[in-house]
Amino acid sequence: MQRRNAEYEEGVKKQLTAMFGANGFDAERDIAAITVNRWSHGYTYAYTQLFDPEWEEGQAPHELGRKPLGRISIANADAEAGASLQAAIEAAARAVRELG
Ligand SMILES: Cc1cc2nc3c(=O)[nH]c(=O)nc-3n(C[C@H](O)[C@H](O)[C@H](O)COP(=O)(O)OP(=O)(O)OC[C@H]3O[C@@H](n4cnc5c(N)ncnc54)[C@H](O)[C@@H]3O)c2cc1C
Repeated sequence: MQRRNAEYEEGVKKQLTAMFGANGFDAERDIAAITVNRWSHGYTYAYTQLFDPEWEEGQAPHELGRKPLGRISIANADAEAGASLQAAIEAAARAVRELG
């Protein structure tokens, strides 16, 4: 059964109230709006030996695309060519290191 956005909003308010209500949080007062984003169908591309060339070190599209630009460093799973939480965390760690 498909849930309606109102059900998600109610669930978010209940959970936040359970976590922070005892410390003064008031969902009706403190939440201006809730945006419900459902999982998209987008997925980070990961190279396969079948269809992708063997890129020279540093020359793969995701490596070229994540090159720092001044004080801007690029994180996110796409920048590691890996569709996982671990890839996203590794990308974040690298991006912070690049800012040195
Ligand atoms: C259906 C599905 C199942 C998955 N299952 C697993 C799993 O079991 N294990 C696993 O390790 N990985 C899983 N993944 C992959 C994992 O969720 C992603 O690799 C990871 O969340 C990517 O992290 P990210 O920080 O790169 O991007 P995201 O998590 O997509 O974060 C990007 C954030 O930027 C925000 N944003 C976008 N545009 C703007 C803007 N203009 N201004 C401000 N904010 C913006 C978005 O709202 C989002 O919160 C799954 C992915 C999907 C879609």
